[in-house]
Amino acid sequence: MRALPLLSLLIGLLILAGPPSLAAADVLQEVRARGELIVGVKDSTPPFGFIREGSRSIVGYDVDIAAAIARGLGVKLRLSPVTSATRIPELEQGHIDLIAATMTHTREREQQIDFSLTYFVTGQRVMTKRTGGIKALPELGGKKVSSVRGSTSEQNIRQAVASTVVIAFNDYPSAFLALAQGKVLAMTTDETILLGLQRKAPRPDDFVLLDGYISTEPYGLGIRKGEETLRREVNRILLELEASGEAGRIFNTWFGPGTEVPLKRTFRLETGGVPIR
Ligand code: GLU
Repeated sequence: MRALPLLSLLIGLLILAGPPSLAAADVLQEVRARGELIVGVKDSTPPFGFIREGSRSIVGYDVDIAAAIARGLGVKLRLSPVTSATRIPELEQGHIDLIAATMTHTREREQQIDFSLTYFVTGQRVMTKRTGGIKALPELGGKKVSSVRGSTSEQNIRQAVASTVVIAFNDYPSAFLALAQGKVLAMTTDETILLGLQRKAPRPDDFVLLDGYISTEPYGLGIRKGEETLRREVNRILLELEASGEAGRIFNTWFGPGTEVPLKRTFRLETGGVPIR
């Protein structure tokens, strides 16, 4: 009988304390307990995340970075395909622990999620058909340009050439197909993605990139807001990858001499690297 007032006191205290706060949850602990890091990656954006021909596995620069993070945390890696539009909601809803999906770190996105150090840097450009007759950006006024829903590319082109008609697709191969089939006059996104798609096309020489960049796009790994312990661990691992030379080796696997998209490595994985817009 005497337990009853004590019980109601306890219940009262619990009600006063409110529901367990989400901010107090620690994804890093959860990942370690689970023994697996779930990373959202693209599956049709070469050379960052795409399905290797004749296999069912997703490979690419983003995948190798994700694998290195999992290794650094001492857990297994599980990949979960995302698109530009689904990646932030998937993270916020807790379906994935991390985003490694060609995602630019922007001030606008910082309202929703946190970011790791920059782990890749590119810039937005425009690709047309060689026979398309377009030579410079301003000529895209009033013309159809394809891009992808939920990307910075889609926003930036509207700012760069206000009167373009942007046709937004769910993924980059669809945006590229629209260009190849002449449904749009140009396609725009990060230079590296454009080159990756162009080099895999049956006739790469049918396509050209216009001179000049619309923006700088520093990629960061996306982390749920407030997950500071995971963010610190991820950054520690990224810095270690740079120091050990592993980050350079991963870059060379996908962008080194002899690859489909040979590039110069103009960045390092370091604190306070590329300014964020
Ligand atoms: N990096 C750009 C972005 O984060 C374009 C590539 C993409 O859509 O993932 O939106």
